[in-house]
Amino acid sequence: MNASAAWQHLEPKVVAINRRIAELEWEPSRRNNFVAYKPERDSSYVEVDGDRLLMMSGYGYIGLNGDQRVVEAAKAAVDEYGTGTPGVRALAGTIPLHEELEAEVAKFTGRESSLVFSSGYAANVGTVGALCGAGDTILLDKLDHASIVDGAQLSGATVTRFRHNDPRHLDRRLAGTDPDTTRLVVVDSVYSMDGDIAPLPELREVCDRHGALLMVDEAHSLGVIGATGRGIEEHFNNEVRADIKVGTLSKAVPSNGGWIVGNEQFLQWLKRLARPFLFSAALAPAQVGAALESLRILDREPERVTRAQAESARFRQIMSEAGMNTGDSQTAVVPLIVGSDENAWDYATACRKAGVIGLPVMTPAVPPGLARLRIAITAKHTREEIDFAIDAFLTAARQCRLIGE
Ligand code: PMP
Repeated sequence: MNASAAWQHLEPKVVAINRRIAELEWEPSRRNNFVAYKPERDSSYVEVDGDRLLMMSGYGYIGLNGDQRVVEAAKAAVDEYGTGTPGVRALAGTIPLHEELEAEVAKFTGRESSLVFSSGYAANVGTVGALCGAGDTILLDKLDHASIVDGAQLSGATVTRFRHNDPRHLDRRLAGTDPDTTRLVVVDSVYSMDGDIAPLPELREVCDRHGALLMVDEAHSLGVIGATGRGIEEHFNNEVRADIKVGTLSKAVPSNGGWIVGNEQFLQWLKRLARPFLFSAALAPAQVGAALESLRILDREPERVTRAQAESARFRQIMSEAGMNTGDSQTAVVPLIVGSDENAWDYATACRKAGVIGLPVMTPAVPPGLARLRIAITAKHTREEIDFAIDAFLTAARQCRLIGE
C-alpha cells in the first residue's frame, strides 16, 4: 500500500484481512469470488477459468435474463432514448419510460404509486433514511440486509435489533419506545442467506398494537413467493398489508434498480427527501426497458413462479433427506449449511470439481459455525440440470464427509 502517513490507520486492517485469506490456504486460482462468470444465454451453465459449470447460486429467480423479449425491450429503449439519461430524476433525468415503469411496479405490487431508484441499495438507504430522524426509533431484524442497516444508521434515529423472525422479542423492544415518535420496523420478506420468510401476520399485529410502521424489503420475494410471485402479502393470502414495500429490479427482474411503493401523497414527500433519489443519476433507458418488459412477462407467466417453487421444494426435500442441513428455508433460496468457513470453502471446491457452482458464504456475512453454500433454484433451471446439481452436491458432500456414504 501507499507508504504515506495518511494510510497508516487503514493498513493494519488490510494486512490482517489478507493474512486471513492466505491462512485459509485456498487454491490459488480460487482465492475469492471476484472472478468473471460468462453465462450461456440458453442454459444455466457458465464459463469460468476455462471450465463449463452449472451455476446454482444466481439471482435470476424467474429465468428471464437473456430472454429475447427482455433483450428486445432494452434495445428498443436504447434506440429511442440513447444509453444515458441527462441528469438526476429531479433535474431533466426523467424520461417517459421511468413513469411507465413506476406505473407498472405500482400495479404489479397492488399500490397506488411507486418511485424507482438507481438500485435496491439506494431504495433502502433513501427510504429508511428519510422516514426517521433524531428522536425516532428504527427496529431491525438481526438478519436484515446491509442496505437497511446503512439507511438506519444514516438516519440519525436510535437503531435497535430484535431476534431473527421473533415477533415477541420485537414486542418487548417496542415496549421500551416513545409512542409519540416514529417507530419503524423493517424486515426482509425473504432472507437472502437463509431463504426463510418473515412472519408478516404476527409482525403486523405487534406493530399495530404499538402504533409502529412496518416496512418489508421484497428483494428476494418478488417473483419468488405468493401464488403469482407478488411477494409476502400474497404468500399470506393478502390477509395483512405492510405499510411500506421496497424491492429491487436486479434479482427476479434481470435489470438494475430499486423501487418503493405506497400512496401518491407519501411518495411525493419521499421524492423530495430521499437523498439517493435526489442526488444519483436516473436509471439508464436499457435498464428501465428491460425491467418494464420483465414485470409484464412475470404478470402474464405466473407459471415461472410456480415451477421454481415446486422445483425448489423438491430440491430442499431431497437434500435434507440425504442429511444436508437446509436450515429454515421455505423458498427458492436454499442454504447448504456446513459449519466452519473452511468446510464451506472445501465443499464449494469439491462441488466445482463435480461440475456445479455453489457459492460459499462465510463469516462475517453469516455467524461463525454457520458457513454455507447459498443455492438458488430458478425457473431457468431444467429438471435435468437440477438433478445433475443434486447428484453433484451429494457426491461432493460425501467426499467432504459432510454426510455418510
Ligand atoms: N435488499 C436485499 C435483501 C438484498 O439482498 C439486496 C441485494 N443483495 C438489496 C436489498 C440491494 O439490491 P441491489 O443489489 O439491487 O442494490
